[in-house]
Amino acid sequence: MLLTTTRLSKVLQLTLAVIKPDAVAHPLMSEALHQIILENKFVIVRNKELAWRRQDSEKFYAEHSGRFFYQRLVEFMSSGPMRAYILAKEDGIRHWRDLMGPTKVFRARYTSPTSLRAQFGLTDTRNTTHGSDSPESARREICFFFPDFHVEEWMDKDEPLFRSGRILYD
Ligand code: ADP
Repeated sequence: MLLTTTRLSKVLQLTLAVIKPDAVAHPLMSEALHQIILENKFVIVRNKELAWRRQDSEKFYAEHSGRFFYQRLVEFMSSGPMRAYILAKEDGIRHWRDLMGPTKVFRARYTSPTSLRAQFGLTDTRNTTHGSDSPESARREICFFFPDFHVEEWMDKDEPLFRSGRILYD
């Protein structure tokens, strides 16, 4: 992807975004969400389709074990393919979270009707997208989904244009 020179003077923040199985199950929706990512000027650093085993889902959402929706969530997230992205943008974590909208779909429809979850979410669990909520979780989640990705290596080798920019990653 081409990067404009103006981007190089900005501090980019990496985040982990996921298109969940409910959306990937519909190819047109998956494509629409990809377009929305581009329209919102995120740099797509990496993206891939993958599917979780049940134990991946349990590990990723361990902090929610014991909550009433945990089993439902674990089953849903291992029910079919997902698309994971490493995205970069100035204040990228907040921008992606704002674009997604609140966790609960009906709240999203009420408070942020143009958000992704409001427009495309089916239920509070099947809510279309995931996004890291802090730099710490972005680091952990990028590592979880893309264990072979090393930001310093990417800056040096894969994306030489970024050498003159700055990447925020902690
Ligand atoms: P977010 O994905 O907005 O960061 P959480 O980390 O709190 O939200 O929850 C993780 C996921 O668990 C949500 O995206 C949603 O799929 C599911 N979830 C959270 N809260 C509920 C709930 N009250 N009822 C059903 N599913 C929920």
